[in-house]
Amino acid sequence: MVYCAHRFLLLFKIRFKMALIPFSSRALSQLAELPEMHQMMRQTCRDYAAKELAPIAATLDKNHTYPAKQILELGAMGVMAVEVPEELGGTGMDYLAYSLAMEEISRGCASTGVVVSVNNSLYIGPILKYGNEEQKKQWITPFTTGEKVGCFALSEPGNGSDAGAASTMAHQDGDEWVLNGTKAWITNSWEASATVVFATTDKALKHKGISAFLVPMPHPGLSLGKKEEKLGIRASSTANIILEDCRIPLGNLLGSRGAGFKIAMQTLDSGRIGIASQALGIAQAALDCAADYAHKRTAFGAPIGKMQAIQFKLADMALAIESARLLTWKAALLKDAKKPFTKEAAMAKLAASEAATFSAHQSIQILGGMGFVTDMPAERHYRDARITEIYEGTSEIQRLVIANQVLKEYQP
Ligand SMILES: Cc1cc2nc3c(=O)[nH]c(=O)nc-3n(C[C@H](O)[C@H](O)[C@H](O)COP(=O)(O)OP(=O)(O)OC[C@H]3O[C@@H](n4cnc5c(N)ncnc54)[C@H](O)[C@@H]3O)c2cc1C
Repeated sequence: MVYCAHRFLLLFKIRFKMALIPFSSRALSQLAELPEMHQMMRQTCRDYAAKELAPIAATLDKNHTYPAKQILELGAMGVMAVEVPEELGGTGMDYLAYSLAMEEISRGCASTGVVVSVNNSLYIGPILKYGNEEQKKQWITPFTTGEKVGCFALSEPGNGSDAGAASTMAHQDGDEWVLNGTKAWITNSWEASATVVFATTDKALKHKGISAFLVPMPHPGLSLGKKEEKLGIRASSTANIILEDCRIPLGNLLGSRGAGFKIAMQTLDSGRIGIASQALGIAQAALDCAADYAHKRTAFGAPIGKMQAIQFKLADMALAIESARLLTWKAALLKDAKKPFTKEAAMAKLAASEAATFSAHQSIQILGGMGFVTDMPAERHYRDARITEIYEGTSEIQRLVIANQVLKEYQP
């Protein structure tokens, strides 16, 4: 109830304040200090994560338990569909608000963070952008409350970074599409009620022959592989989706035929801001844990926080996190202003994921032996951080994206 009240207050403020402030002044003020409604979103999620997620994150991780109750609560708070307009059942806020929510939730539990991220940016995101009105009502509205979650099926066993080499096929048969192939590593697949699937309608056209389809789950012809045993984010499911003569109506094509690769790449541009935010949350949690321990643990007659070697580690962690946070907010602000943000999103994801792995590594070092055991959350942060350098484009791919944009800017 408390969280619902916060949500309505946020909506009230956003309508009356945000529309009045031009982007340029908003951008500046947001980088210096967040406007009130964004601060409220941040604080509401921070409080929820501290009270409801952080205390159970280790158990969820250990038992590989999907946070069903928490996802429903986050749905009630408006966090499962932050950017979706109110008339479709969403919260009607912007991407900066989504980024703030993602960071705070992931600070409490990175597994819960990825469930939120996939539903918001990978599943709902492309339907919001490319779906027709009927598709939006059918495929978005039931996914705004946390009762249903969606997933995004792009990667395949034979290709991840090289998404244009998709071998999953789609052909038309009367008034149906028939899908065949295997999608790999699909987050939320075991709990999902629908998925966006990328499949090739014309192999000869290579990536220009890929289309995006909306497939309900469960569905005849669609089956799931085993749940992957993962290093981190273990409370979220990851599995193959196998399509064997999986028939869907012609109307389940998302966007136009052949637009799938563009849809996937644009979705990943936005999704990277969400993963950057998840990484920031993990990095911040690692710093929280290490700084607190540095005050409490004594060695050689003084708290270890008095030692310069420990202070320098804390300083480097804080610096990496704050720089990555500014990049992430900048990418979100550019997206909200409908300006190009491909380079900034890749920079944000690269910087934030490296800040997360660095901070989690340092946090273990500061905790010494206690960093290596499950009594403390540092080892989980270390495991959870690692994936942020891999999914939605590896760090190598982010560097390629950034370099391509830089070279374009310097085109003679
Ligand atoms: C836990 C988890 C959840 C995931 N969730 C999803 C999901 O929900 N939906 C989905 O579609 N996918 C998902 N993925 C897949 C993920 O996006 C891919 O794993 C990732 O894109 C990398 O692809 P790959 O594993 O095939 O590695 P590869 O592409 O085989 O890459 C292997 C190595 O080669 C490097 N490399 C590849 N190409 C280049 C290049 N051109 N230049 C330099 N280096 C290169 C890579 O950076 C990497 O280091 C998930 C993966 C995991 C592990």
